[in-house]
Amino acid sequence: MTLWSRFRPKKKLQNTLSSLPWKTLLSRFSGEEDIRDWCKCSNCSLECIRKPEECRCCMDMDRCTERMAEVEKDGQCITAHPGYAACCLNTWVLSTAAISLRTMAQKTYSATKIEKNAAELEFMRSVAYRQFVRLVYAYVGASRRVPLPNCVYNSIREAFPNVDSEYKGYEEEET
Ligand SMILES: [Zn+2]
Ligand SMILES: [Zn+2]
Repeated sequence: MTLWSRFRPKKKLQNTLSSLPWKTLLSRFSGEEDIRDWCKCSNCSLECIRKPEECRCCMDMDRCTERMAEVEKDGQCITAHPGYAACCLNTWVLSTAAISLRTMAQKTYSATKIEKNAAELEFMRSVAYRQFVRLVYAYVGASRRVPLPNCVYNSIREAFPNVDSEYKGYEEEET
């Protein structure tokens, strides 16, 4: 894939997403389909997820496998991409990327220390999800409908854990 093709308009973003049937996602979510059968990257887990939509392995998603092929890491998990930890987990990068989003967080920044900490972690997750969409899809528009792979939800939620252990989906965190 050339540099130019990475930056062409992504009007058809929805078409590039994994088109797994809802039934498949449900049976993965319920555990009916064993995770060892559908996760091909070995980093997916049912632990931190809340919704059937979050049961996609990065190997199910063409964009992820394309991005890994570009960096000659075919067949590896998207979280092993050289840009992943730097762009999506580094708190300095996230807080810098979040400058334009600060207004969204301000309402929560006037709370107690514990609440403030929880709000910050939630905010970091939300920015990390966006950063992932930018990194993998080169997309900066309204990204609320872009599902992320299970392994990425897990990795981001592990890095920025929710004290209440109640996770909102990407769509809900997007404001
Ligand atoms: Zn996986
Ligand atoms: Zn993966």
